[in-house]
Amino acid sequence: MENHRIADIFDEIADVLELQDESVFRIRSYRRGARAIRDLPEDVRTLVERGELLKVPGIGKSLTEKVEEILGTGTSEFYEKIKKAPEYKLLPLLRIPGVGPRHAIQFYRVLGIVTVDDLEEAARAGRLHDLERMGEKLEERILKGIEQYRRRTGRFRLAEGMLHAEAVAAKVGKLKGVTRIDIAGSCRRMKETIGDIDILVISKSAKKVMDVFTSMKSVSEVIARGATKSSVLLEAGIQVDLRVLRRENYGAALHYFTGSKDHNVAIRDRAKRRGLRVSEYGVFNVETAERLGGASEEEVFAALGLPFIPPELRENSGELEAADEGRLPRLVEAGDIKGDLHMHTTATDGRNTPREMAVAARRLGYRYVAITDHSKAVRVAGGLDAEELRAHIEAIRKANKEVDGIEILAGVEVDIMKDGGLDLPDDVLRQCDVVIAAVHSGFNMPEARMTRRILKALENENVNILAHPTGRLIGEREPYEVDIEAVIAAARKCGVALELNAFPDRLDLKDVHCRAAREAGVKISIGTDAHAVAHLANMRYGVGTARRGWCEAGDILNAMTLPKLRKFLARRRRDRAKPGV
Ligand SMILES: [Zn+2]
Ligand SMILES: [Zn+2]
Repeated sequence: MENHRIADIFDEIADVLELQDESVFRIRSYRRGARAIRDLPEDVRTLVERGELLKVPGIGKSLTEKVEEILGTGTSEFYEKIKKAPEYKLLPLLRIPGVGPRHAIQFYRVLGIVTVDDLEEAARAGRLHDLERMGEKLEERILKGIEQYRRRTGRFRLAEGMLHAEAVAAKVGKLKGVTRIDIAGSCRRMKETIGDIDILVISKSAKKVMDVFTSMKSVSEVIARGATKSSVLLEAGIQVDLRVLRRENYGAALHYFTGSKDHNVAIRDRAKRRGLRVSEYGVFNVETAERLGGASEEEVFAALGLPFIPPELRENSGELEAADEGRLPRLVEAGDIKGDLHMHTTATDGRNTPREMAVAARRLGYRYVAITDHSKAVRVAGGLDAEELRAHIEAIRKANKEVDGIEILAGVEVDIMKDGGLDLPDDVLRQCDVVIAAVHSGFNMPEARMTRRILKALENENVNILAHPTGRLIGEREPYEVDIEAVIAAARKCGVALELNAFPDRLDLKDVHCRAAREAGVKISIGTDAHAVAHLANMRYGVGTARRGWCEAGDILNAMTLPKLRKFLARRRRDRAKPGV
C-alpha cells in the first residue's frame, strides 16, 4: 500500500504548488509521478531495491530521491515543508466538485475562506458570484459540489440528519392508515453526529408505506425492499431504514432501535438479573415465557422496575442507576427557553437587522434577545471598534423602544486576544447589557497558555458568557487544547455562564462538558449564534445537547425570566463596584 501513500503525497504536493502558482512543469512532474506510482504493477519498494525506479516513465531523478526518502523515513523534508504552507489547509476545498485551484486561492485571498464550511456560508450568502471568473451558475454548482463532498464523508451532523429524517417522516406520516411514526436511533437521542436514520411506523397498510418510502424523490438507491422493512439511500448520502411494526411490539421496538447500544446492553443485563428477557418484541419472563409488556416504552421500563428514561440520557452513563434511585433530572424543554443571547446582525456579518431578529424571536415566543455582534479583531466579519459599538448600542436601544413584546438587550461578542485581554476597552463593554467573550484566532497554542488566556478573560468583570468554549467545528476542526475543568471552575468562581453554542457545526460545549458544568453549578447559556433569522430555529439542537448533558431548566441562563437574567448579568459588576467585595 506504500504505492498509494506515496502517490497521494505527490498529488498533495502538486495541489499545493498549484495553489502557490508555481511552475507548470514542476506541478506536472509531481502529477505524472503520482500517476506512474499508483499504476505500478508491483510494490514500489521492490523496484527501488532492484534499482529500477528510474526506468519507470514519468519518474525522474528528483522524484526517485523523494521516493527513497519516504520509504526510509516515512516522509520527506519537502513534503513536511509543504504541509506547513498556508495553502495546505485549503486542500479540502479542491475536493469539492466545481472548485479548481484558481478559485480556491481566490476565495482564500479575497474572502479569507479556508474551510468547506466557510465556502458554503459564503456561497449561500451570495458572496462568491461577484468575484472575477465567477457567476451565479458557478456559485450554484459549488453549493451542489459541497453537498456531494459531504455525502462522501461518513457521519452527518445532527441537524442535517434530523432535517432528512423529518422530511421522510412527514411524507410517510401523511399516508392514510399510518397511526404512528417515530424517528428513532441517534437522531432521537440528539447525538451530535448520526450514521443513519431509523424510522418506525404503525400502519394497517405496510405495502403502501413501502411503495411511498422507496419511491420518494429524494431516494437515489433502494438498498432493500421487504414487507415490513426497507432501506434506501437518500441523494444526500444518508441511509434510511424504515420498519412497519405491530402495535403490541411498538414500544419495545422503539426502545430497541433508539439505542444506544451500551444502554441496551445495560438494560438486558438488568433484565437478566430479574429473570427477564428484553428484545425488540417485548419483555418476557424467562421461565414462564409470559410477556410482560412492550406496547409502549413506559411498559418496557416499568417491567424492569424503572421510570421512563428520556432518549437523550440513554448512553449508559449513569441513567439506569439514577432512574433506579429516583433521581433522574427533569430535563430542560424547548418551552423553557425564554430568549436567545447570541446573534449577529447587518452591523457585522449577519443578514438581518436587530429589529428583524427581535421580531422573528418574538414569533418563537421569546421574551428577550441579545444582539451580540463581533468586535474588530474579526476582520473578515467586519467587527466593530469601540466607536462603532457605541453607535450600534444606541441603534439597538432605539429598536428596543420600537418593537413591543420582546426586550432587545445590547451586547457584543468580544474577541479574547492572545494574551487574554479583550478586543474592546472596558468603558464600552460596561455599556452593554450582555458581554460574550470568545476565542476566534490563535487556536494552536499549548493547553496551558490557552487556559491562562481564557481564565484571564473570564476575570474581566464585564464578561457574562464565554462563547463556544472549546472552538471545535464538528467534522472540520478539533477543539483547541484547553483545560476545560479549569475553565468550568473559573466560570463558577467569576459568575460567568458557559455557552452551549447551538449552531449545528459547533454544539460547543458538548454534552459531557455541559454535564460537568451543571454539576459544578455553572449556568449554561444556549445561544444560536444566528447570522440570519432562519438560524434562530437551531435552538432545538442546543436544547437537545443540553438534555444529553442532564441539564434542567434551572441550569440554563436563557430559561430565566428577564428580571432574573438582568440580575445575573448585573451582579458581577455591582459586586466589583462595592468596595471590599
Ligand atoms: Zn463566535
Ligand atoms: Zn457569534
